[in-house]
Amino acid sequence: MSGPVISLELPHDAMVLLVGPSGSGKSTFASSHFRPTEVLSSDEMRAMVADDPNDQTATEAAFELLHTALEMRLLRGRLTVVDATNLEAWSRALLLAIARRHRRPAAAIVLSLPLAECLARNAVRSDRRPAASVRRQHRLLGAAVAATASEGYARSWILRSPLEVAAVRVTRQ
Ligand code: GDP
Ligand code: MG
Repeated sequence: MSGPVISLELPHDAMVLLVGPSGSGKSTFASSHFRPTEVLSSDEMRAMVADDPNDQTATEAAFELLHTALEMRLLRGRLTVVDATNLEAWSRALLLAIARRHRRPAAAIVLSLPLAECLARNAVRSDRRPAASVRRQHRLLGAAVAATASEGYARSWILRSPLEVAAVRVTRQ
């Protein structure tokens, strides 16, 4: 496929936050652009502790694991992608504090897709979330987009349509 390219240049040792509701395509984006070992996914961490990526009772343990793995990787200067919704300021603050502690640059990639798109994709997946959760998460997007300008990211991008997402090429500095 050819067409316009949106170039995302990432520092080689960055912490990269994917931000977006369920169904916005975070995990798909992560697997298209990064090595499996570079991606820390909250769903995979829930599965690791509870055998179920959707078990919300495992959330606390899952994030403890995710934060620990992130620390270990950033200590070594390994680029690390956090595949979680990252829609609440406090959840991003915990991750940003870890990156700061290890003096690694932070980057944010916001998948700000229309609600209808997220709902439609969520509806056809086997591990779908309640539509109400997707709606609630989507309402946090505006604030998350605004926050990317003030939370201290070295780089940030807002992707607003499937076409923009498809146009992305990731490079590393
Ligand atoms: P996440 O919940 O944000 O991690 O979203 P996923 O990456 O799991 O994607 C949710 C659903 O949307 C999956 O069924 C994907 O196959 C589909 N999907 C993700 N990205 C795209 C995309 O760019 N185009 C299309 N058509 N479907 C996508
Ligand atoms: Mg996912």
